[in-house]
Amino acid sequence: MSTTVLNECSKRGHEQVSFFHYPDVGLKAIISIHDTTLGPAVGGCRMRIYQSEEQALDDVMRLSEGMTYKSSLAGLNLGGGKACLMADPRMVEGREALFKKFGECINFLSGRYVTAEDMGTNVTDMMFARSKTNHVVGIDPNKGGGGDPSPWTAKGVFAAVRAATERVFGSSDLTDRRVALQGVGHVGMYLLHALREAGAHVSVCDTHDSAVREAAKKYGATVVTPDAIFDVPCDIYAPCAVGQTVNAQTLQRLNCKIIAGAANNQLSDSSVYAMIQKRNILYCPDFAINSGGIICVAGELAPEGWKESWVKEKVERIHETTSRILDESKASGTFTEEVAIALARERIAAAKAKKEQ
Ligand code: NAD
Repeated sequence: MSTTVLNECSKRGHEQVSFFHYPDVGLKAIISIHDTTLGPAVGGCRMRIYQSEEQALDDVMRLSEGMTYKSSLAGLNLGGGKACLMADPRMVEGREALFKKFGECINFLSGRYVTAEDMGTNVTDMMFARSKTNHVVGIDPNKGGGGDPSPWTAKGVFAAVRAATERVFGSSDLTDRRVALQGVGHVGMYLLHALREAGAHVSVCDTHDSAVREAAKKYGATVVTPDAIFDVPCDIYAPCAVGQTVNAQTLQRLNCKIIAGAANNQLSDSSVYAMIQKRNILYCPDFAINSGGIICVAGELAPEGWKESWVKEKVERIHETTSRILDESKASGTFTEEVAIALARERIAAAKAKKEQ
């Protein structure tokens, strides 16, 4: 097993993958640290039921690599990490003990990994972990945290939508532009609000009826079923629910000019790069445009503590970063995601070179 993990590390460039097993509290966890050149590896703790250990390992390694690129492009002095707890996220009894033990596990890494809330976990869980370790961000706003990061994530995605619209249609004006928005949860609902305010027509779907009802009632969105979202004729497809919704099957159905959304790992794999280019769709790399959330929680690590102005200034730069990626991609013919990864790696390589001087 360890040979396989080390092979994966050398293939993907990870520094460290740690496994934790404490059956008395039901803890089975993997913490993956991809790169700490720019600073401690920060990334959320995901709690979900995985089909296998291999699936969990792949998920956590892939996500931690994405965090390295996300933080680098966002101009943060942070590396990329992620944790996964292989457990039912609906667990109620024993949750406190589980997250306290998870906090202790984080301490074994001596600050190389800083955790935060993610899919299946919440602020209360983080406060339990925080009672055992200082290496937690995304904490209660009453205790110095920045609060819900979703509005910041939505702001960044909205800025990227404008940058892409400008390049495809010659103007960033969103009046009467048609958007197919998948998932109106925390981020999706804020994005819907911004899009409607800008004059766009938005079709939404969600697996939760109450979410689409709210989207229709509050913001006048048109509701479609989760499967039908891929067939909605639109200018922009905005995935804000789950990963890998842009794949060989959906690309045959998607009828859009731009893909820009908040979800992590939107593309099934790199084999879809060519398909997206062939379809003449402009793809805004997810990790480049959904960094508002990590910027928000990173604000807690700033020497002066969390400050709205610090976060705002960095989130506003997402427009410029996206524009640079889209322009360099156009000039070189290289797929946008490859351009974004190269830019992120450039900053890391420069920091490494400086350290070695
Ligand atoms: P959320 O759980 O609040 O919202 C997701 C919504 O998608 C939910 O309403 C859910 O019912 C819906 N959904 C799930 N599966 C669906 C499907 N197949 N079709 C349609 N709807 C479906 O999550 P969120 O915080 O809004 O995050 C959305 C996405 O953005 C996630 O992929 C998350 O990892 C990513 N992201 C979030 C942040 C943040 O600040 N919250 C930051 C970066 C990335």
